[in-house]
Amino acid sequence: MLLILGLAVWGLDVEVRVRTAGAASGGPSEWSRTQPFPDRDVYYPGTEALASDEMRVVACGTGMPQPRLKQAAACFLVELGNGDKFIFDMGEGSFERIMALGIPLDQLDKVFLGHLHLDHAGDFPAFYFTGPVNNRLTPLRLWGPSGVRPEWGTKTWAAKMQEQWAWEKAGRGSAVDPRGHALEVNEFDWMAVNAVVYNENGVVIRTLPAIHLDQSVSFILEWNGLRFAFSSDTLPNKWWKEHATNVDLSIHECFIPPQMMMERYGMAPSEAVMVGTQGHTAAQAFGKIMSLTSPRHAVCYHFQNDFDTAPVVLSEIRKTYDGPLDLATDFMTWNVTKDGIRTRMGVPNHESFPAPVQMVKQPPDSMKAYQWTEFSLGGVEPESARVTNELIAEFNKRNGTDVKPSLTGLPFMKKE
Ligand SMILES: [Zn+2]
Ligand SMILES: [Zn+2]
Repeated sequence: MLLILGLAVWGLDVEVRVRTAGAASGGPSEWSRTQPFPDRDVYYPGTEALASDEMRVVACGTGMPQPRLKQAAACFLVELGNGDKFIFDMGEGSFERIMALGIPLDQLDKVFLGHLHLDHAGDFPAFYFTGPVNNRLTPLRLWGPSGVRPEWGTKTWAAKMQEQWAWEKAGRGSAVDPRGHALEVNEFDWMAVNAVVYNENGVVIRTLPAIHLDQSVSFILEWNGLRFAFSSDTLPNKWWKEHATNVDLSIHECFIPPQMMMERYGMAPSEAVMVGTQGHTAAQAFGKIMSLTSPRHAVCYHFQNDFDTAPVVLSEIRKTYDGPLDLATDFMTWNVTKDGIRTRMGVPNHESFPAPVQMVKQPPDSMKAYQWTEFSLGGVEPESARVTNELIAEFNKRNGTDVKPSLTGLPFMKKE
């Protein structure tokens, strides 16, 4: 009898409220003293298989341009049962959240940026340039909108990024597998409505214009009959209303009320109203657009989600929307299938190392070897260099190798 009850709970665990309702009914539910618990309130990244028909979304950034430990700026990871993974926005601080999930970076090769504000794109350069030292050996693929002016678009932004970080790429780039520094840039028309910008392996991603200054976009990902919509930054708009109706998971920005923005950020009244209602979606307006589009599950993000802000945001939203809702914070995780949508908090690894390489590493490109200046070479302290040489000799002995530091441009062996 107990076993049957246990299986019933297991089978229905897609909905947290089902479990809660079971507990409320008062019946005992005995768990094994030695086997894993039949259910979890939390998600431990790397411990659960993704079903072939399942979509898992992990919030890797839900906060603001004002940095804080608890919440990075905008970033959502979408993982699909076919093995594909997609990153939507990559704001400041989000890279470390992504790393904490322990996913090989070779599998995280597709990034979609809704617009080029720092709190949505600021960690992309770090993700790109340090990819190879984090064991990414495959090219990185980027999608982003065109600009009102060509120099404001994603293509120019990515090209200028390469220029700005030229020394980083020349130096670090000369010491790593060169494949991870390949970058594919796909710029698309920011005014295109419901246009397909990605169509591979059964996954279709469409773009919608967003109203956030100009040249901002939202995305809709469709796969296996499931639809995920991500607003990036926008005011509620007619394109979202028309094309994001009835999606399964609807992630839309939402701000705290202007009154609170004055108190928390020291904004002037005009600034609070401008930023909180004209540049962004106020909580009541978020509720309205959710009511108008009836997603299976709504998620609001882009505010500092604390014990005192959350009740305010929730009460504002509930004035205009009474459907399923989560107030996102970092590592909140959604498992989406046709049968149900389950929300849990992810438990990240605070001491992560890069996931193992997924293929054999190639040596650095010798043609691009970084040339040290004589100035630096001449400044190496000789006694410390001797210690380092002993270390390298010991390393070679232990590993049966014959690594010569001169290959990397280091001067130590020349001193012997
Ligand atoms: Zn923005
Ligand atoms: Zn933003």
